[in-house]
Amino acid sequence: MIQWRKVSKNNLDAQFLFDVSELLTQSKYTWYVTEAYRTIERSNRLWDEYKHGVVLRDANNTPLRDADGNIRRGKKGARAAIGGLSAHNYGRAIDVVLDGSDDPGLQMNWNTKLPGWLWLKQAIWKHPRLHSGWSFGDWPHIEQYKWKDYVPWRKTYEDNLYAVQHPTLFIGIGLPA
Ligand SMILES: [Zn+2]
Repeated sequence: MIQWRKVSKNNLDAQFLFDVSELLTQSKYTWYVTEAYRTIERSNRLWDEYKHGVVLRDANNTPLRDADGNIRRGKKGARAAIGGLSAHNYGRAIDVVLDGSDDPGLQMNWNTKLPGWLWLKQAIWKHPRLHSGWSFGDWPHIEQYKWKDYVPWRKTYEDNLYAVQHPTLFIGIGLPA
């Protein structure tokens, strides 16, 4: 079973959405989608936090700053690709988590030794149009097989890299000041 909760299916490639929905609907395990389409801006922010540490924020989501005005950061965020290099940017990836309990509500369980996770790895491995992030250490990530063949990722990535390297030329690129 697959549960989307508040995650939008908007901007997902139709074939990819069909394939991943069909596969997970047939699963005897319950899978919750935690992320689907991701903007370039959000990818840049996640990448920045992966490289430099998560930005610490107050209750209003405003970044905290030290006495010198520098943004305060915590431990490094989860591994993430810079904008343009992630299948999420093209609507060709989702992230899922296993519901590890029959109790009501979602009991997120990332213990990849559980049978559910092993089922997922094998089911995607067998699927002709899906690829598992397992191969690069990201078990919850499911992407379209060879998605780079279908999208202008190189130009998108290079344009974004230029923007990231010249932040004063661009507004709203998503990197903390
Ligand atoms: Zn992912």
